[in-house]
Amino acid sequence: MRLILLGPPGAGKGTQAVNIVKKYSIPHISTGDMFRKNIKEGTDLGIKAKEYMDKGLLVPDDLVVAIVKDRLTEKDCQKGFLLDGFPRTVNQADALDAELTSLDYELDYVINIDVSKEELVDRAVGRRVCKDCGATYHVKFNPSKVEKICDVCGGELIQRKDDTVETVTKRIEVYLEQTQPLIDYYGKKEILINIDGKQDIDKVFQDIVIALGRE
Ligand SMILES: [Zn+2]
Repeated sequence: MRLILLGPPGAGKGTQAVNIVKKYSIPHISTGDMFRKNIKEGTDLGIKAKEYMDKGLLVPDDLVVAIVKDRLTEKDCQKGFLLDGFPRTVNQADALDAELTSLDYELDYVINIDVSKEELVDRAVGRRVCKDCGATYHVKFNPSKVEKICDVCGGELIQRKDDTVETVTKRIEVYLEQTQPLIDYYGKKEILINIDGKQDIDKVFQDIVIALGRE
């Protein structure tokens, strides 16, 4: 199974990625993780990527593509893979297409976890984090037993600075604007699967499994 996973920040993409790779026994290819690994190991790619990240710049397409290409040629990808965090642009999608063709691979599906902007804002704004142990809560969906107090350690629950309505809305708008062309791109190829991400985590995963058609 060769898959791409798309979903806006706060849509629960991370959890679904873990579920999917476990269920289908495929490697989870997260560009974020790969950059961290390459940087840690001091590879050429890692050193170059770090130069951009240290300056607060986005890592350019050719570097991202190079790092993904490198990973896709590894043996464990022969049985499939889940790409997470890549591609982000149509340019990257084209580069991926070319690489897959050269490896004689074909993408099976692109899973898009679809959650409305309003819902995502709602989720992010209600998020609370324990300032002592980092446990996370949600005022509506996952409240602590005692208001503003951590169930685990008794620490104070706070709202992160970047979880305000303005910053969350901005974050999501940027994502949606950037991702829409990609959604159109894979929609035209007829391999896009839209999953209703507003449902609870288990139901979302269940829908993914059904859509992939392999119980
Ligand atoms: Zn705590």
